[in-house]
Amino acid sequence: MSTVYVVGLGPGAGEQMTVRAEKILEACPVILGYTVYIDLVREQYPEKKFLSTPMKQEVKRCQMAFEEAVKGQDVAMVCSGDAGVYGMAGLIYEVGREYPEIKIEIIPGITAATGGAAVLGAPLMHDFAVISLSDLLTPWEQIEERLEAAAKAGFVICLYNPSSKKRADYLQKACDIFLKYRRPDTICGFVKNIGREGETYQILPLEILRETAVDMFTTVYIGTEKTMELNGKMVTPRGYREMKKEKA
Ligand code: SAH
Repeated sequence: MSTVYVVGLGPGAGEQMTVRAEKILEACPVILGYTVYIDLVREQYPEKKFLSTPMKQEVKRCQMAFEEAVKGQDVAMVCSGDAGVYGMAGLIYEVGREYPEIKIEIIPGITAATGGAAVLGAPLMHDFAVISLSDLLTPWEQIEERLEAAAKAGFVICLYNPSSKKRADYLQKACDIFLKYRRPDTICGFVKNIGREGETYQILPLEILRETAVDMFTTVYIGTEKTMELNGKMVTPRGYREMKKEKA
């Protein structure tokens, strides 16, 4: 029986891929994915059969994966980061209902949230929430409700899909919601091209983040009132100091 593996490549493939992901890619004769991610692994595995479909053709891409597996070969469907975080893992299970004879296995990867956090310092040390600003699959009103609830609840926030050509002002709108509950000088940060060529990051106050344009290859972090800038890095304390005080 052949298997469709859904493989998270980590934020930039290469060094940030897990050993298990690498082994699966080596073992599968067919590798499928969105064009950008295929380009990330093509050089490393020149002998493979590569198949890709553009963005917004995800269902077709999943069907292609199963059709290749039906031919009797193992298939790797690659995603950036973790395949189960705004990735293809769920859709593969849904499309897989039509192919009960094919096994499905998910290979986890480093997601942008933790990959970017390591670049910024240690922003996610305490409870945090991940919210996507993409309204392709979620109505904007619902995204606003979630932002509002998370802002109120005091989470550190990690924003995926913070911008696109059509949605230039969504980050600004999100910041406006946070400014209702957090100080304008709340420490925030963003990382562009995590683990890829051109990786850059910036740490900045919430009121400046509001005025900043970021692109879709960026992950944004909004701190809590405890988050600080330490040695040029963004750090949310876990509260050790308070624990010490309690003991004393
Ligand atoms: N499955 C992916 C997320 C896909 S959603 C994961 O687990 O990381 C796409 C969003 O993820 C982007 O808009 C961006 O916000 C974030 N992202 C993914 N890869 C990134 C990278 N290398 N650098 C910065 N942000 C990234």
